[in-house]
Amino acid sequence: MTSTGSQGAGTTDRLVWSDAPSARVLVVEDEPSIASFVRRGLIYEGFAVDVVGHGLAALDAVRDRPPDVVVLDVMLPGVDGLEVARRIRRAERAEGGPSVPILMLTARDAVEDRVDGLEVGADDYLVKPFALKELAARIRALLRRSQPATADVPPAEVLSFADLVLDLARRTASRAGRPVRLTTREFNLLTLFLRHPNQVLPRALLMERIWGSDFFGDSNVLEVLVANLRRALEAGGEPRLIQTVRGVGYVLRAAG
Ligand code: CA
Repeated sequence: MTSTGSQGAGTTDRLVWSDAPSARVLVVEDEPSIASFVRRGLIYEGFAVDVVGHGLAALDAVRDRPPDVVVLDVMLPGVDGLEVARRIRRAERAEGGPSVPILMLTARDAVEDRVDGLEVGADDYLVKPFALKELAARIRALLRRSQPATADVPPAEVLSFADLVLDLARRTASRAGRPVRLTTREFNLLTLFLRHPNQVLPRALLMERIWGSDFFGDSNVLEVLVANLRRALEAGGEPRLIQTVRGVGYVLRAAG
């Protein structure tokens, strides 16, 4: 039921989503449309993403499930982003713990918000509206700064989940030691699932990653690809790992 796989970055595989595929980002944003846009974009960039809609929930999340980076909107109902940052830093000082990188999202004209944000302990800020690529790049920069020791660790080349093992360098797959022969597309699709175990991957995102952003064909091709991949993965009578989430997409999850 759990992923035992390493989530390290591979630099040679063309499907690698980011420098740090497993980094967890807490997005604090009350506007649902922006929150959802940011969430989907960051998942697409390879991050694991949690979203909360107000300041107190953010403080709870930072305490209970410490993220690698916090993306914090200044304008929040109740406890605003500046106060959230202030309280996060206060708690860190009190506990003497590590300092989570905070990137603040500010409105276009609110220069004072940026200054205040940096003064209360934010590490960086981004002005709305922003490009997701820019946000992802800033997050990676913050991660590199906060985790200098990991820079020299060689990228992991093997991903695994349950009894499934994927060797990215050799481009081989196996289940419980049984070699699984896959086409290039099947292998690429499986790599996406293994990079995001237990995470529902929307159909459109999978199609974009496998066929490219200009794909306008029949979405049935994805169903066919998944069916073929399942057939290969289950040829030895093994349980299903790629589950259908009706109306949304697919998820790599042990059947339970
Ligand atoms: Ca807001």
